[in-house]
Amino acid sequence: MFNLHQVNKVFAATAIRSMFQGLLDILYPRHCFACDKSLHEERNSYICEDCLEQIKESEVRRCARCGFELGPGIASSSKGCPECENISLRFKKSFFVSDNKGPLKNLIHQFKYHKHVCLIKPLGDILTGLQLQDIIPEIDVVVPVPLHWKKKQERGFNQSELLAKKLCWKLSLPVSINNLHRVKNTLSQTQLSRLQRQKNINGAFKVKKPDIFFKKNVLLVDDVLTTGMTASECARNLKNAGANEVYLLALARSRL
Ligand SMILES: [Zn+2]
Ligand SMILES: [Zn+2]
Repeated sequence: MFNLHQVNKVFAATAIRSMFQGLLDILYPRHCFACDKSLHEERNSYICEDCLEQIKESEVRRCARCGFELGPGIASSSKGCPECENISLRFKKSFFVSDNKGPLKNLIHQFKYHKHVCLIKPLGDILTGLQLQDIIPEIDVVVPVPLHWKKKQERGFNQSELLAKKLCWKLSLPVSINNLHRVKNTLSQTQLSRLQRQKNINGAFKVKKPDIFFKKNVLLVDDVLTTGMTASECARNLKNAGANEVYLLALARSRL
């Protein structure tokens, strides 16, 4: 129990923090990380209300397997859509906030390449705001798509790992870091042909302790899905380790 003296100390600390934040806001006015608008009105935020609304409203009808946006009249089944039916994707279903465009694209870019790690808070909120109630009860363990240690050292963090940890903290799910690990420092997949991409990613991952994934439903977490082959190779390794099903959750779906 708090006594009166402790309560007064908490109030004093909160008041000092709020004054300090107010002073910082005057000296260094905050701007939305997505559109650069001043955040004078939204003091405890990193993104303005307009950008947040745009992200929330950008949900579209997608292929349940690869997440490709389905145009009018294009259907998807459990085998996928015209975009993915000839690709052997090893995850069962995928979930995305939106296509990689607009404010979400800007936020991911600021987070990943300008290293504004503070953006993990709004991005984590956006990710957990997705309607995931159909799969979350099925998930036994969450696994981030691993970065090679050299790339992680260069960047200073693995963006997928931070997202996975935030998600698990918010949804009270266990996370497995480093058990699925990247043994090959691959080239970026975006500039390669489909055949080159497959060759590039083959054998890029390994599982250290397969029993952690045995008979488990795994939720793989990534920031942006482009070709799907990296996530699929992760899923193949998880399935080889005995995982029951692998689902994929990412912030954004890119188009090639
Ligand atoms: Zn904005
Ligand atoms: Zn598809």
